[in-house]
Amino acid sequence: KMERENVLQCNDVVVRFGGFVAINHFSFSIERGELHFLIGPNGAGKTTFLDVLCGKTKTTEGDVLFKGKDDLTKYKEFEIVRKGIGRKFQAPSIFPNLTVYENLEIAMKQDKRIWSILLAKTTKQQNDEIVKQLELIGLSEQRDLQARILSHGQKQWLEIGMVMMQKPDLLLLDEPIAGMTEEEEEKTGELLLKLKQQCTMIVVEHDMDFVRKFAEKVTVMHEGKWLCDGPMEKVQSNEKVMEVYLGR
Ligand code: ADP
Repeated sequence: KMERENVLQCNDVVVRFGGFVAINHFSFSIERGELHFLIGPNGAGKTTFLDVLCGKTKTTEGDVLFKGKDDLTKYKEFEIVRKGIGRKFQAPSIFPNLTVYENLEIAMKQDKRIWSILLAKTTKQQNDEIVKQLELIGLSEQRDLQARILSHGQKQWLEIGMVMMQKPDLLLLDEPIAGMTEEEEEKTGELLLKLKQQCTMIVVEHDMDFVRKFAEKVTVMHEGKWLCDGPMEKVQSNEKVMEVYLGR
């Protein structure tokens, strides 16, 4: 049996913006291989929490331990990326005039400048990796198309693929199905299940049907605090959760 290991352990995290407390003594942990959804009403602090994890927002108090004891709060954004935390934002940041294949190629060699990336030869092994990633994100047939002509859903998958080229241990996704068709939503859910074999994921999501369908474990935030966690069946029948969502 596989050893259980916390990829992330956050203790008593507080984030203040001036006098406003956006995250209020929030504690959270996630085991390796989990597909963990973070939900809660607007303003609950979900995005701020992801911002903390990728170093975009500084904590006021508390610690954020990655893979045991490395406290992320002392690192800058680019250092955190190198430690193995990848984040896909809502707005796509693909290179529209490059092909799907080239986008993955650039993501893989991210530490170099674009012009030198395209000049540097891609090794057989790197090519194999890109081909594998294309298959995983379902874009093998689109590999030589310019990224700008992809559908909205395809662009999102390409971007997930780009983040994955850095082989993160922890992947942070912010509303991955926003603006998608039902069919694209379904494919995205299946992609997340496949990615689970390679990395741990925290997904912020508003669409409760999607969460119900694909979440293994859910944490509910409300007013910057932990409200409850567990499998979706347990969480959605929790009285406090019904109160904050339905105002009862
Ligand atoms: P969620 O993602 O759950 O909707 P957010 O993390 O975006 O919530 O926001 C939590 C609260 O923190 C909100 O009330 C928001 O207005 C506030 N907030 C977020 N970022 C800032 C900031 N940079 N300055 C001041 N207030 C902020």
